[in-house]
Amino acid sequence: MTIDVPDTVSRVLVLSGPSGSGKSTIVDRLLADSGVSVREAVSATTRSPRPTEVDGKDYYFLSQEEFSQKQQRGEFVECAEVHGVGDWYGTLATEIQLAHDENAWALLEIDVEGALAVMDHYPDALTIFLLAPSMEEYRRRLESRGTESQDAIERRIGTAEGEVQRADRYRYQVVNDDLDRAVREITEILLAWEEKIHA
Ligand code: 5GP
Repeated sequence: MTIDVPDTVSRVLVLSGPSGSGKSTIVDRLLADSGVSVREAVSATTRSPRPTEVDGKDYYFLSQEEFSQKQQRGEFVECAEVHGVGDWYGTLATEIQLAHDENAWALLEIDVEGALAVMDHYPDALTIFLLAPSMEEYRRRLESRGTESQDAIERRIGTAEGEVQRADRYRYQVVNDDLDRAVREITEILLAWEEKIHA
């Protein structure tokens, strides 16, 4: 695979893809063994934690009021209401700064609206859209995860259809047909960009 890398690059990696496209698993793998120093930017959200989620690790779980105070103080690089049910998500500028202070890539796992805003801030960001092999496969993955109601699943599929149509706004599109292969592809892209920084 030839990887087309721009002349200037920012150490900001934006990974989007419908929930159920395997993003979280891929993120875990990249953090553990991509061979490049990567730090995940922990997002803030107003949605309630799922049973296994930890505050400050998976998200900063904030009340609506805390979230809008941060918004008013301009602490977010971007923020968006993601699934149209009043749940807000946002990337804190301090999280990107923390990664850069460590000379690491800031990894942002965010939705398309947020990603487009980040692209305005960081035009040289590495942006990757992760696609599930098909909508049927995507539905199957969401259902087998069992964390959402049928209603929430339908909403997420609706969001996904809209997002996939904007996948071409990203520099790369990666199909998660096979986890190892997708991780390898993303790692190769990341290594090519990292090499550019040192060139
Ligand atoms: P979930 O509720 O499943 O954790 O996440 C729902 C969606 O919110 C995912 O598509 C995820 O990419 C997006 N998301 C998570 N954090 C952020 C963020 O900081 N900003 C934006 N714009 N979207 C986010």
